[in-house]
Amino acid sequence: MLETSVRQVRVALAMVLGRRLNVRAVERLVADALLTLQEFGSLGDDVDELADGPFADPDERRDLQNRALQRTVRRLAKRSPFYRERLAGTDLDALTTETLTSIPVTRKADLIERPADFLCSSPYLVTQTTGTTGRPVQIWLSRYEMELWPALIALSVVLRGDIRPGDRMQINLSSRATAAVQEDVEVCRLVGASCHVVGQVPPEESVEHLLGQADGIRPTLLTGNPSYLARLVTAARSLGCRPDEFGLRSIYAGGEVMSRALTEALRDTFGAETVGDNFGMTELLPVGGRTCSRRHLHIDPNQGYTEVLDLDTGEPAGPGRLGELTVTPYYPYRECMPVLRYNTGDVVRTLDGEADCELAAVPAVSQILGKAGQIHRTADGVVTPRDIVEVLDGTPGLPFPLRHRAGVQGDGRLHVEVASRELSAAEVTKLLLAHDIDARVTVLPLDDEEAARRFPLRCDLLERTFTTRSHA
Ligand SMILES: [Zn+2]
Repeated sequence: MLETSVRQVRVALAMVLGRRLNVRAVERLVADALLTLQEFGSLGDDVDELADGPFADPDERRDLQNRALQRTVRRLAKRSPFYRERLAGTDLDALTTETLTSIPVTRKADLIERPADFLCSSPYLVTQTTGTTGRPVQIWLSRYEMELWPALIALSVVLRGDIRPGDRMQINLSSRATAAVQEDVEVCRLVGASCHVVGQVPPEESVEHLLGQADGIRPTLLTGNPSYLARLVTAARSLGCRPDEFGLRSIYAGGEVMSRALTEALRDTFGAETVGDNFGMTELLPVGGRTCSRRHLHIDPNQGYTEVLDLDTGEPAGPGRLGELTVTPYYPYRECMPVLRYNTGDVVRTLDGEADCELAAVPAVSQILGKAGQIHRTADGVVTPRDIVEVLDGTPGLPFPLRHRAGVQGDGRLHVEVASRELSAAEVTKLLLAHDIDARVTVLPLDDEEAARRFPLRCDLLERTFTTRSHA
């Protein structure tokens, strides 16, 4: 019964893209799924297929994509002053994934310069990006979006068993990321879980909450940016916490490059079975992606169209090439301040061949390798920010989070600056060289505060509270 109704709604979601979705119908499905779980203890077979939706079928995908793109651009041309200009002269009814490439990409600078020209419906909530570089982008969301997205997420997480009634989620995101925080809070409400919006407070305080010291309830789920989670690892270790003191089942990270070493450290330090590295970006909501066991990034094709644009040519990247992730969320999933061909500046590598993993039905690229402006083209070849972080993160003598900077110098050689009070430049050079990264290394013996000032990360956007005086 549940399978049938979920399948019907999924197909309806994909086909009836011409108008807004019925949020209550999706919420009812979540409730039905929870009842089924309560009664039968499981949701039956092929729930993964259900959760992946009809776009997961490659034969159906192309046709659905073209139709979804056409509906999206028609609405943009009608409602968005920015896109009315940009789409003038384009045959919107004939648009396909092939001809889409003739429309220029949209960049962050466009959103910053002309925010009002992107508005297509009444705004309800503004959310702000929390990156460490450049001016933040403000994205307006409608009430419909803020109700629909959590309902869709709740349906997926219940079908997959990721969140269960009775769970407690600790949210360590910055309070300025209002959309992400609100989404998590609503998902917990729909699933019957509880949540604690802790924010990016000093890490020792978050660790106390994870231990259940505040109200005796230990969180089972934790969400935050990788650099903040890295600070939690360091804090928990210095407080001498054991993994069995925590009640965490899953940790969800996103928004920054997360290394294998940090993934393992989170698992070991907090005893969590699952450490998920999710892709999500305010500008692209509700499109998101998950990382599989083979460390691909699988981006959900149901709610948006994803392209990888070659770093050198700007054209769709061939197999095994580096390119910038460019995404178009579909109407009616995105309605208030939608973007078309939004160039994220995040670099990935296209896969050379089919993905052979548990998420193979969902299109995949490599994990995010860094920002386009930070891809290092040395005389010896390309080095990505991820290449460096994967080598250095978790090395004894380099505390989590890794504080560093890299750049190519005039002689074509990579220069890496890193904060450490224990390692020498020769030791770091050797580590990098063992992974074929030839670099001139400078080690700066900074204390934590100086290191944070010199090499800021998202975790440094700390929200102070009075109770933190005791840690000072
Ligand atoms: Zn995969």
